[in-house]
Amino acid sequence: MAKKIVEGISCAKCNKEMILGTLSKYEFEEGYPLHNVQVFQCPKCNKNFFTESQANEMEVRTSELKEYTFGFERKVTISGKSLVVGIPSELADHLQIKKGQKVRVIPIAKDGFMVKKQ
Ligand SMILES: [Zn+2]
Repeated sequence: MAKKIVEGISCAKCNKEMILGTLSKYEFEEGYPLHNVQVFQCPKCNKNFFTESQANEMEVRTSELKEYTFGFERKVTISGKSLVVGIPSELADHLQIKKGQKVRVIPIAKDGFMVKKQ
């Protein structure tokens, strides 16, 4: 009798065959939660294992997410008569914006504005 051999992934620690499951939420990269991510899980220790193609897929999904969510949330504060929005330091460093830098505030439609270095 021929046995059907299914090549599975085993947990290195428990030597148990891992089961294909789904994580409802997983951060492949911190701050970029992905939903419904495929994963192999050990039924004994619950260790997660991702195959190379699963990891590649997460990488693609994370970069797509970055494109859509790129932006910084900031609260409007007040200084004198002006409303003030802080520029995150990472962004200021990246754009080489320092104190005293002149910028132009350009309204966009009715729901926002763009700030450009002058
Ligand atoms: Zn295990």
